[in-house]
Amino acid sequence: MKPLLEVENVDAGYGFLQVLWEVSLHVEEGEFVCLLGANGAGKTTTLRTIAGFIAPQGGDVRFKGQSIAGKPAHTISSTGISFVSEELNLFANMTVRENLLLGAYNVRDKQKQLEALNFVYSLFPRLKEREKQLAGTMSGGERKMLAIARGMMSQPELLLVDEPSLGLAPQLVTNVFDALVTLQQRGVTILLVEQNVASALRIADRGYVLEQGKIAIEGKSSDLTNNEHVRSAYMGI
Ligand code: ATP
Repeated sequence: MKPLLEVENVDAGYGFLQVLWEVSLHVEEGEFVCLLGANGAGKTTTLRTIAGFIAPQGGDVRFKGQSIAGKPAHTISSTGISFVSEELNLFANMTVRENLLLGAYNVRDKQKQLEALNFVYSLFPRLKEREKQLAGTMSGGERKMLAIARGMMSQPELLLVDEPSLGLAPQLVTNVFDALVTLQQRGVTILLVEQNVASALRIADRGYVLEQGKIAIEGKSSDLTNNEHVRSAYMGI
């Protein structure tokens, strides 16, 4: 069977600045894969390229066997890929519930929208408690949960999550990571970008390490956790 997502020899960047150099990775259906690396290694650029915010200059990106390289972000999102990123701001003056329902823009059936809403509320009970609160008045951790929950409202097959632990207190990091594990258990395929290497390897099945825009190491999480270079360069052990 073909992987759900295939990134093959992708070159990408910003104008004349090339950031990704022949990046190849794949994610099987139902898998939880993490993409690790130092600041500026190109992790976010990889997710943006998959999600269609940047067109690759070379190589191909395939989702369910079909090329999506260079397609606009809204087209890619409608194929079943959801990108959860800090930059994609929530609507501060709208309530939690309104923000969530906007995430279900592609789900026409009202009943299905409510099911999606109940599903994300079961994952993040805090959002249910705060459903009438304006998104802009939620705490940093709550907004992060709201962003993930909104990404789930379109009922994606593949969730791309960019640095969910950034700026969160340890307890909230645990909550957010637990929610990602639950999502995988419910059948969602996940590609997670994280700087918190030890935590990411604890929950992911496999991982890739990007160094200066190239895939330097890849393997099962248990192998990466025991890899000398990963331990010294990224885990401070
Ligand atoms: P971090 O962990 O710090 O977020 P990252 O691995 O996600 O890092 P990217 O955000 O992909 O790294 O950035 C890779 C390189 O691309 C960096 O040198 C960055 O300065 C550059 N870059 C990112 N966004 C842009 C942009 N919009 N325009 C120009 N250069 C950019």
